[in-house]
Amino acid sequence: MEFMETKIKNEGQILEGNVLLVDKFLNQQLDIELLEQMALAWKEKFKGEKITKIVTIEASGIAIAAITAKVFGVPALFAKKKASLNLDAKSYKAEVYSFTKKQSYTIAISQKLLNENDRVFLVDDFLANGCAMEGLIKLVQEAGATIAGIGIAIEKSYQEGRKRLEEYNIPISSAARIQSMDASTQSIEFLNEE
Ligand code: 5GP
Repeated sequence: MEFMETKIKNEGQILEGNVLLVDKFLNQQLDIELLEQMALAWKEKFKGEKITKIVTIEASGIAIAAITAKVFGVPALFAKKKASLNLDAKSYKAEVYSFTKKQSYTIAISQKLLNENDRVFLVDDFLANGCAMEGLIKLVQEAGATIAGIGIAIEKSYQEGRKRLEEYNIPISSAARIQSMDASTQSIEFLNEE
């Protein structure tokens, strides 16, 4: 999606250590128009699907899920990153390994909020190594729900994520696919294929 590539070029900052900083429009300050544009594009792409819920992981996925849910006319649901008092004891759980933090954490969704009648669309801000999204897929599958598709705002296509998810045979739509990026020159190349 060209609008996302343009936004990244204009307002993203490439940091050392393979990190794209997008706090001006996605990770801290939120460009609601941009999020809506992305959600509308996903709605068009998945218009044949009867989706019942938009599912993500806290915290950075929530804004994307909220706007997408509004566009699809269904609830947004987010997996919590650790057990808390608000979380039902009966929950679906999955382990996620974080390469950046070099440790695993648990994601959980209350069992009463997801079941085999749900057809969900999963969304997240980044697809890098794919561990977060794979954890979410496993959790949703444990609930018996069907996954109709995955929407990613920014995919770093040179990392393992896309490959890791391919075995699940779920259609993925990434608003921008980064082929390469270089912090020293602040240059960035995109993959044109969807
Ligand atoms: P994974 O490696 O599991 O696909 O990515 C996990 C999470 O790491 C993403 O949901 C995102 O929040 C974060 N992440 C990965 N790469 C980047 C990046 O380049 N920039 C930012 N801001 N977050 C990232």
